[in-house]
Amino acid sequence: MQPDYAAILQTIFAEVQPLLSQGKVASYIPELSKVSTQHFGMAVYCLDGSTYSIGDSQQKFSLQSVTKLFALALAFSREGDAIWERVGREPSGNPFNSLVQLEYERGKPRNPFINAGALVIADILSARFVQSDIAVQQFARTISGEPTIDFDMAVAQSERQTAHRNYAIAHLMKDFGNLHNPVKTVIDSYCRQCSLTMTCAELAKAGGFLANHGSVPWSGQRILDASSSKRLNALMLTCGTYDAAGDFAYRVGLPAKSGVGGGILALVPGELAVAVWSPGLDATGNSLAGTYALERFTTLTARSIF
Ligand code: GLN
Repeated sequence: MQPDYAAILQTIFAEVQPLLSQGKVASYIPELSKVSTQHFGMAVYCLDGSTYSIGDSQQKFSLQSVTKLFALALAFSREGDAIWERVGREPSGNPFNSLVQLEYERGKPRNPFINAGALVIADILSARFVQSDIAVQQFARTISGEPTIDFDMAVAQSERQTAHRNYAIAHLMKDFGNLHNPVKTVIDSYCRQCSLTMTCAELAKAGGFLANHGSVPWSGQRILDASSSKRLNALMLTCGTYDAAGDFAYRVGLPAKSGVGGGILALVPGELAVAVWSPGLDATGNSLAGTYALERFTTLTARSIF
């Protein structure tokens, strides 16, 4: 029997209120620090087409690292296993913007969801598309059915101006021969890609294809074969929430991808996609109230992959 999602979202909405002021917005991208921590939105997209939402679920927010999932799905659908020659599939156990491992692992990022890995994926996409960021935008439009999905140029510029760490990562990989395009080209595309905005309702719908074994539930369009979709789900579980992936699996028990804009997309394979947004982050860069909301969601609905 289907849980009463509307009632469960209401319960969660009430429960997260005291948590909203506990998280901290990502201030290293100055434009993101202007967003209030008081926002909370959540949306559920069931594969049968029914939807449920609460709070600021219709408000656009900065997707940031959630776009790494779209970029990876696009690159994997085009290049297949060839991408694994340039990026690994192991959790890093380090912060998403760390340089440490990259030096002793000779420029091959641990996985596509840390910054280094996402820069390599942007580089791979640049060989196929004139602009990798536009390709990711088009992909986001295809999977969400929202032709208006767009960049937030103020956020992109704000990040570009302070992207010293990402420049350092890109230069290091360039030195190791794992970046084929000019560093500046890749960083510019990556910053634009990260600035894409969506609402929770749009993001949950966009995640539908990964809950639906690779095909878009509402259009029937196949994006990935079932085996590839399963593999992306596995990567989300092991690497999608940075160095908190173990704790996230323990608490939430779903494949997920987070971003420093405060968004998290999580999947119940074969059943639904759920998106949550709350800009206050915990120490690992995951939405504090968002993670708690998903923990409560899987508890109250008795949904989990375990
Ligand atoms: N654009 C951000 C960065 O590169 C994305 C990081 C994130 O969401 N974890 O730092």
